[in-house]
Amino acid sequence: MTEYSIAAGIRLREMASGDREHLQARLLREHVTHALKAPFYRDRLAAANIAPENIRSLADLPRLPLTAREDLDHHGPSLWAVPPEAVADLALTSGTTGPPVQVPYTAGDLARLAYNETMSFYGTGTRGGDRCLVCVTLDRCFIAGLAYYQGIVGLGATAIRSGSGQPARQWELISLLRPTVLVGVPTFLLQIAQWARAHHFRPEEAGIKRLVIIGEPVRRPDLRLTPLGEELTRSWNCPACASYGATELETGICECPLGCGGHLHPELCLAEIIDEQGHPLGDGRPGELVLTPLGVEGFPLIRFRTGDIARKYSEPCACGWHSERIGPIEGRVAQRLKMKGTTLYPETVFQLLQEVPGVRASYLEVRSDYDLSDLVRVVVGGVDDLDGREIETLLQARLRVKPEVVVRDIDQVMAAMTGEGERKMKRFFDFRKK
Ligand SMILES: [Zn+2]
Repeated sequence: MTEYSIAAGIRLREMASGDREHLQARLLREHVTHALKAPFYRDRLAAANIAPENIRSLADLPRLPLTAREDLDHHGPSLWAVPPEAVADLALTSGTTGPPVQVPYTAGDLARLAYNETMSFYGTGTRGGDRCLVCVTLDRCFIAGLAYYQGIVGLGATAIRSGSGQPARQWELISLLRPTVLVGVPTFLLQIAQWARAHHFRPEEAGIKRLVIIGEPVRRPDLRLTPLGEELTRSWNCPACASYGATELETGICECPLGCGGHLHPELCLAEIIDEQGHPLGDGRPGELVLTPLGVEGFPLIRFRTGDIARKYSEPCACGWHSERIGPIEGRVAQRLKMKGTTLYPETVFQLLQEVPGVRASYLEVRSDYDLSDLVRVVVGGVDDLDGREIETLLQARLRVKPEVVVRDIDQVMAAMTGEGERKMKRFFDFRKK
């Protein structure tokens, strides 16, 4: 296991990228060597005719085979590179086509993840002496809450494990324990502020210095805040640093307060952006985010296709870190819509709808049209006098294509989104012929 230290980590992030690449190529070689302990990769790498010693520089990365989410569904256990008795924590990720995928974390993986989050929090400006209210669950086999907790502790800051839910109780903890950092889902952190204001408190004066957020985008593709992001940062009077991670990757990234993409941890992860044919894309061009974690023991994935659309930025950040950054998630590959030659993601529509006063909830339905075009219907609910035509005109002006807009009663919209036995609110209904 590699020894990780904050001081060495800072030095590595302040280095020019060329100086880091030699180290990263060595870490990639070691990672691939270790991955060969997993039967899945023994077969894959043999089929691709690649041995670790063939990896001389990062330019060799695209020669390695890609790993899809479906590979995890179908070959989960053969991706393990350690015996079951070496596993310290079992996390679960929701399977795309079957039961949840088990992700084994060794003690070394947990230490690595702790370091990942320590550096992420450091990048947000959090230091020893800060108090962080973690409004994210630490149980139910989720790894995110545990990762934040470990990162905060590793940094020498104070963690307050308040968990999710109950705005009133969260506000009580904020008043009593005076945290300086809030960690949670944007809409929930906004709910806490709204609850406080409705009860004649002033969240903007609560002394919160930054928000570390997860789960929902607060920035548009051009990095400006979305209406939700603007309301959130105004409500707490502080910046929001968006984090992104995946259980199966055992790796996360987080923005610094400048909000120009999540800083990649150069010793823990390599990122690529690829187009629909799998070709690498350069800086600033949207495509599928492919991540290769480095130094993972239990579940050492290689070139994992996240299914998320994002852009990469390589120029140094004004915060002083030169590590590459990944912009906000712009959509899911599986939810890519084609309308009259234009590519569109549901998230773009949802972000535009945030700008329409009176819209309280919305979802999308998509059906197959002729050729490769999709028929997109936007269902919205909210105040009584919502005008569907007006929303259609707004969407057309901004998207250059015109989806159909249907206004329904808000209760109907909510009922359709919650469904029966659904864990999460559903906002995308795909009726396309496969
Ligand atoms: Zn930065």
